[in-house]
Amino acid sequence: MNIHEFQARELFAEFGVATQPGSVAHTAEEAKNVAAGLGGKLVVKAQIHAGGRGKGTFKSGFKGGVHLCETPAEAKEIASRMIGEVLVTHQTGPEGKEVGKIFVGEAVDIARELYFAILIDRSTSSPVVIASTEGGMDIETVAEKSPEKILRLIVNPFLGLMPYQTRLIAASLGLTGPLMTQASKLFTNLYRLFIERDCSMVEINPLVVTPDGKLLALDAKFNFDDNSLYRQPSIIAMRDITEEDPREVEASKFGLNYIGLDGNIACLVNGAGLAMATMDIIQHAGGMPANFLDVGGGATREQVTAAFRIILADKSVKGIFVNIFGGIMDCNIIATGIVEAAKETGLSIPLVVRLEGNNVEAGKKTLAESGLKLESGENILDAAHKIVAAVKAVA
Ligand code: ADP
Ligand code: MG
Repeated sequence: MNIHEFQARELFAEFGVATQPGSVAHTAEEAKNVAAGLGGKLVVKAQIHAGGRGKGTFKSGFKGGVHLCETPAEAKEIASRMIGEVLVTHQTGPEGKEVGKIFVGEAVDIARELYFAILIDRSTSSPVVIASTEGGMDIETVAEKSPEKILRLIVNPFLGLMPYQTRLIAASLGLTGPLMTQASKLFTNLYRLFIERDCSMVEINPLVVTPDGKLLALDAKFNFDDNSLYRQPSIIAMRDITEEDPREVEASKFGLNYIGLDGNIACLVNGAGLAMATMDIIQHAGGMPANFLDVGGGATREQVTAAFRIILADKSVKGIFVNIFGGIMDCNIIATGIVEAAKETGLSIPLVVRLEGNNVEAGKKTLAESGLKLESGENILDAAHKIVAAVKAVA
């Protein structure tokens, strides 16, 4: 799960991570009021779940999702050109994201822009700190052009981020004296936030040094481990479903693992491994999957029906491939769910089903007696070829 920058700042305040004052606004008028309360130079920033806003462009032609300005009236003017408009950045894809709210904050004089992030390193199963003197630009670009400017430091999860490590990172960023003290405190607090709130990524880009010697987090990108959300009520409260794929939001209500993709063959599968294999085999047979959908090991009839409804609501779907291996799963539950959902939604696109395993005979009987127009696959490959051919025939 992701959150907005203004919400990340609330977490910064709670954990003692230095940042500049400001707050969120939902209308241009509100932006003006927030600006009036701040005084001094201002920054107005579009709040979307994507980075690269500074260099982004609105579909209206207005350039930049991050603007500096001088007066509340200007802040209002800029806000009115952002709110309700679609911002395209290199992270949003060409369709962009509609801006529903903005952040108005104090502008900061910047002497240096640094980069600091904490994420999980899968190869060592540990948190890893990434730091660089090249803040303000894409870390991927830095990694490609000047990898020597990136520090990677593995943190032992049992010991946590040790004081000597915070000083080492600060030194590698050229932060000495009082700045090193501020940096050590900021890194320690941010690491505590990372652990206590079950983050999978925290990225501050840029972390800035001001001419008068302050260290401030000016931007924040957070990612939380979805599997830990059950114990993070304050994080769940920050969820903004308008930023998420509506198909994925609907699927999560039913406890389904669904990820929307760009192809036209929908898959309904039990088990993440089989779901991955199914997507591969569809491509192998010459098709393109429209989604990843894992109904889980013990799916109920309601879940299968919901899964079908979500698939069929997607206009780009031209065919459905149901691939079930019944281990714990009873094949007849899947079959009953398919029949119900197909009747409810008036299924009119090709459907290929491969059922195997627990109670498969009853499942096949349910499908056969339903009167539904569907094809059965002998095995996965056969089924994949059948659905690809069926979709090509209607296209
Ligand atoms: P994004 O990464 O989405 O483009 P940032 O918050 O990093 O958004 O802003 C882009 C750039 O705008 C920063 O690298 C920084 O140079 C500048 N900037 C951001 N916030 C401020 C601020 N409060 N004061 C001055 N400059 C800022
Ligand atoms: Mg940034």
